Amino acid sequence: MRMMPVNITFIGTAAGLPTPERGLPAVLLDCDGDYLLLDCGEGTQRTMMQQGFGLCRRMRIFITHLHGDHVFGLPGMIQTMNLLNRVHPLEVYGPLGLKEFLEDSTFSTMSEPVFPIKVHEVAHGRVLSCKAYSVEAASAEHVVPDLAYRFEFGGSAGRFRLAKAEALGIKEGPLRSELKAGRSVILPDGRRVEPAEVLSSPIPGIAVVYTGDTRRCRSVVDLARGADLLIHEATFGADLAEYAAEQGHSTASDAAEVAKEACAKRLIMTHISARYPDPEVLVREARAVFAETDAAKDLARYVLKR
Ligand SMILES: [Zn+2]
Ligand SMILES: [Zn+2]
Repeated sequence: MRMMPVNITFIGTAAGLPTPERGLPAVLLDCDGDYLLLDCGEGTQRTMMQQGFGLCRRMRIFITHLHGDHVFGLPGMIQTMNLLNRVHPLEVYGPLGLKEFLEDSTFSTMSEPVFPIKVHEVAHGRVLSCKAYSVEAASAEHVVPDLAYRFEFGGSAGRFRLAKAEALGIKEGPLRSELKAGRSVILPDGRRVEPAEVLSSPIPGIAVVYTGDTRRCRSVVDLARGADLLIHEATFGADLAEYAAEQGHSTASDAAEVAKEACAKRLIMTHISARYPDPEVLVREARAVFAETDAAKDLARYVLKR
């Protein structure tokens, strides 16, 4: 199966306060025309237009938490989609409270969606699985309920090899289901069978992990295990490490520690405080821990392919 590349565009990379160089947080993943928008800071829809991304296309939006810098772009996005006569349904995922925010903000501004919209309030665990990709969420550590997401594109579990199963005397039924799900089983005669004995090698997909705002935390390390790309917030540098922890944020070296512990292949830091107009100091601090690190810039594009 041919694996489509994942195109990543940083729409906005600021933390809280926009600057002339950095817009409010949003990242767009585009895999063969499927758009996944991660957070939606103010003005996201305009930047997407400027970059040639159609607002009437197939799109899902994933919100990490309900701080204004990550969601104030949503009502504006919906209003713009209304005016563009969007017909495709829009699905929005995020923590508890997202539905109320969207209903209140669009109702009180007379910009309720005229196209189908479905809001999914999600928590830790599998969020969705479709033909092109799957999404998992984990709770991150911030000052309000907060999620990080893992997106897996393409790839597949190992195929079940019927002839092997029959040769081992495994009959159709729950034992086969367990093995297909990657779990070892004990046969009625006491033999133990490992999944690798009856499954072909799995094909790895492309994994991207995105944190909104978070302290350095174990759940993100687990979520980012082996990811091709970790997009992690790095609001501050070592000079403000204590303040970062108090505010539920990470420093550059925190983000790098997470990438290193998770054995991620690459780290891109985003959500950069306006205190660092030149993020070089953050890059230096992070690379001392994890060499494959860069700081995101607005409109920077990356391509991941297998
Ligand atoms: Zn933020
Ligand atoms: Zn926040």
